[in-house]
Amino acid sequence: MHELSIALQLIDQVQELAHQRNVHVVAVQIQVGELSGVVCEALQSAWELARKATSMSEVKLDIEAVEAVGYCGNCQRETEIASIQLHQCLQCGNWIERIIRGHELDIIALQVET
Ligand SMILES: [Zn+2]
Repeated sequence: MHELSIALQLIDQVQELAHQRNVHVVAVQIQVGELSGVVCEALQSAWELARKATSMSEVKLDIEAVEAVGYCGNCQRETEIASIQLHQCLQCGNWIERIIRGHELDIIALQVET
């Protein structure tokens, strides 16, 4: 399961950060882009499974989904992407030249106990 290995990596990263900063983490906030290939629900359950055997068994995962956005050269602006499989401009149907958002898989914040 793809999401399980991601959850395990996240736990490693968070443990490392918590150790460096010497804090007790209670929740982790991450951003998951539509194009990252990660299913948010699957990652959430993988997290609950993966955290059990670790020092983070109580740590919550807060997933923020990020919509895919690209730049259309024809419209000369940012646009939503027609679908994950089809990188076309929703406005004019042109192929998207550049993906601006949607590949995220980042830890954006840690909630720590004070
Ligand atoms: Zn366009």
